[in-house]
Amino acid sequence: MANNKCMPVLVVKVGTSTLTDRSGRVDRSFLIDLTSQLAARQQAGWSVILVTSGAIRAGREALDSRTHALPETASGKPALDTNSLPFKQAAAAIGQGRLMHTYTEAFSWRNVDCAQVLLTREDIEDARRLENARNTLRMLLSLGVIPIINENDTVAVDEIKFGDNDNLAAMVARLIEADLLLILSDVEGLFPNGGPRAEDATPIPLVTKVDSVIQAMAGGETSMGGTGGMRTKIEAARLATEAGIKTVIARGRRPQVVEDVALGSVVGTTFLPQTHSEN
Ligand code: GLU
Repeated sequence: MANNKCMPVLVVKVGTSTLTDRSGRVDRSFLIDLTSQLAARQQAGWSVILVTSGAIRAGREALDSRTHALPETASGKPALDTNSLPFKQAAAAIGQGRLMHTYTEAFSWRNVDCAQVLLTREDIEDARRLENARNTLRMLLSLGVIPIINENDTVAVDEIKFGDNDNLAAMVARLIEADLLLILSDVEGLFPNGGPRAEDATPIPLVTKVDSVIQAMAGGETSMGGTGGMRTKIEAARLATEAGIKTVIARGRRPQVVEDVALGSVVGTTFLPQTHSEN
């Protein structure tokens, strides 16, 4: 359990593919619904942190007309590689502010303030920076503000390459000694054999320990279309549960998913926290 708190601390992670609509744009109505669910949790007395991707997506949207207008090179290749890391980093720098604007406005409709926190793995691995990050997050929570965290894509590309913020969310949950990490996904949870085979398939409801059998079920890196896939989500669940934090992977677009998970309903796949003697 966390620091000086009596109310639970919830970390919710949402990735790019979950917050993107069918036309490939940031789905504002989904973000508005998510913010109202998080605001409701906060108004129920919980401390809430959101870890969100989507900066690159929002930046790509902003750059669309410019990148489409670019001429091709003599060899017929596009003049700009929009899949290169520098382009993605530039898109993130453009999109992060836009993403925050959407969240800030949506939270303000619920009378909730939010704050941008950009982190890197190095920030959390360095003892002094970790302490600074923890102090800032604790202060924001004690002020009743919802921290909105993303990787600082200008100086770090770990999550762009491998993780879609799954790792970052687990590290933040550990840093703040959260009670619950909720990873919102495109699928209902963890399925045997890498994914649902039938429409009515149900995910594994409970995982007592993330071991090699569970890791093997998660499949490859991009099994769900984002950069993360199930593999990095399972790795995040392992990191969090080893620190004693219950973790749930559930479908982000399931109505009232945050409330249902927070209140302990059987939703998605729950990963039980490991006790310290098991670590
Ligand atoms: N920090 C990245 C973003 O906000 C996350 C990585 C990804 O979405 O692939 O876009």
